Amino acid sequence: MKKSKRIEKDNKILKKFISVYCRENHIKKGVEEYKDGYCKDCYELLQYAVKRNELCPLEPKPQCKHCKVHCYSPKNRQKIKEIMKFSGIYLIKHGRIDLILHYIF
Ligand code: SF4
Ligand SMILES: [Zn+2]
Repeated sequence: MKKSKRIEKDNKILKKFISVYCRENHIKKGVEEYKDGYCKDCYELLQYAVKRNELCPLEPKPQCKHCKVHCYSPKNRQKIKEIMKFSGIYLIKHGRIDLILHYIF
């Protein structure tokens, strides 16, 4: 896959997965919305992840979860892993297997 396409796809997935996570774990529990439906922490994490994607030094770019370099800070890497896991399970439970397949392939 062309690098620009990979980045575009990865960014879309990040937006979707972080938004599900934030809505279920933060906004619905009373955390204040900051921007575009995200709380401040999640919005900032999304900006961070999108930036990492766009600055990715690898060519071809793998999916971040298969990456050996992994350019995220350990804290943010852990957070993203947790978010992907939560939202992956959430989307499967809610019949959005299409989004999961889209994420994997
Ligand atoms: S984690 Fe790896 S694939 Fe993802 S942006 Fe960083 S260097 Fe690129
Ligand atoms: Zn949040």
